[in-house]
Amino acid sequence: ILTLDALTKSWGDTQVLRDVSLEVREGEFIALLGPSGCGKSTTLRLIAGLEAPTSGAIRLDGRDITATPPAQRGISMVFQSYALFPHLTVGQNITFGLSVRGEGRRAQADKLARVAPLLGLDKLLDRRPSQLSGGQQQRVALGRALIAQAPICLLDEPLSNLDASLRAEMRAEIRALQRRLGLTMIFVTHDQTEAMSMADRVALLRDGRLEQFDTPEALYSRPASSFVARFIGAPP
Ligand code: ATP
Ligand code: MG
Repeated sequence: ILTLDALTKSWGDTQVLRDVSLEVREGEFIALLGPSGCGKSTTLRLIAGLEAPTSGAIRLDGRDITATPPAQRGISMVFQSYALFPHLTVGQNITFGLSVRGEGRRAQADKLARVAPLLGLDKLLDRRPSQLSGGQQQRVALGRALIAQAPICLLDEPLSNLDASLRAEMRAEIRALQRRLGLTMIFVTHDQTEAMSMADRVALLRDGRLEQFDTPEALYSRPASSFVARFIGAPP
């Protein structure tokens, strides 16, 4: 469904992504894994269209979308800092993107009524973000991405601000939602346990290069390098 073809990104003379190529299949759950600064967020921003690659191409269903504006890509994104609008209610935060696109109130309300129960937010729609727990806020950010009904959803460390037990719970919830809605998801994390336990396939980045892209089992049993083995804690 999504192809990255030799993507390169430089800021000035520092290359943060080098020749990254990968293909994501429809309905797959991909974890984009790697140490801080390796280029995970940059990769998502290129896919979402928030940044243009220095070279290389991005294709969606075979169409070249490298120069397509973000809003027309059919891709939604949950940001690393999921910054909700404090002055808006939960419901208004979730439907914010729909308002920006000029959708009618009725359509917005219908979509909200479908998405909110999926995330257990239907009783909280009139609250402000400050009146929610961290996990609930994270769900609002997820709701914003889901309500766009984009076939591809990008999540940048969506669980980073949660405690361990809530993280585990949210991992399962996100995975269940993804399966139920048949979404293709790319989930960024620097936590190898999270990546290995959730993903159909793991893309491991190191210094802007794709070290290995394979199933968790293959990464564990056939690591492509000693870096891969060390990073995921496999036997060398
Ligand atoms: P983290 O796990 O800490 O979120 P990451 O893998 O998401 O890290 P990126 O945010 O993609 O890393 O950044 C990759 C590299 O690109 C870093 O060295 C970063 O400093 C650099 N970088 C990112 N955005 C910019 C920018 N706008 N201008 C200059 N350098 C940038
Ligand atoms: Mg990042």
